[in-house]
Amino acid sequence: MSKCTVLIIEDEKNIQTFMGKMLKQHDYRVLSADTGAQGLELIRSQCPDIILLDLGLPDLNGDDIIREVRTWTSTPIIVISARTAEKDKVRSLDLGADDYITKPFGTSELLARIRASLRHSNRLRTNDTLYVRPYRHGSMVLDFSKRLLTISDREIHLTPIEYKIVAFLAQNSGKVITYASILSNVWGPYADSDNKILRVNMANIRRKIEADPAQPKYIFTEVGVGYRMAEDEEE
Ligand code: CA
Repeated sequence: MSKCTVLIIEDEKNIQTFMGKMLKQHDYRVLSADTGAQGLELIRSQCPDIILLDLGLPDLNGDDIIREVRTWTSTPIIVISARTAEKDKVRSLDLGADDYITKPFGTSELLARIRASLRHSNRLRTNDTLYVRPYRHGSMVLDFSKRLLTISDREIHLTPIEYKIVAFLAQNSGKVITYASILSNVWGPYADSDNKILRVNMANIRRKIEADPAQPKYIFTEVGVGYRMAEDEEE
């Protein structure tokens, strides 16, 4: 199997070097850019499989890079940001970034985000299987063809809306999904932009699937951004 190519666009040399070394150890091919212009050049010439993008670059605004890249490719972009402002994360995701990770982050967290984004983009390209085979995590199994959710072989009864929410998150497992994206996918393009209906449904879902809804094991809250479902375990 050929190696996946990761492009790191990051002006802080020590972070760029740290991530590059770590990714090489995990068998990725690594390209690095110190500026946005260099990054765009490498995206065009090298067609990386995934892009790690620092939002605070000396020359270009990270948002402008996302917007530009999305005019011609759906290559996954994970935004790496020192900013913790929720609105920056939401804006990057809504512009077309696939995920974000906030500095400082751990190695295993970054690797998990990369795997989830790569898997998701492969699935879109190859029309693969997660829509056919079940989602699994821990003792939870979601069988899309039967529309059946079980935990430890016990059937969980969901309303049609609850099922749509869980299925959409499971199909995007491991990735953060914004409120706006869930609302429009479940309720349609004319969905109310009010998150309240989503929060109410999520509270009901958690009561049904989580042993302790305050300490969820399956669906996590990304405060001010959206939800993230535990990564599918089946490879
Ligand atoms: Ca920076």
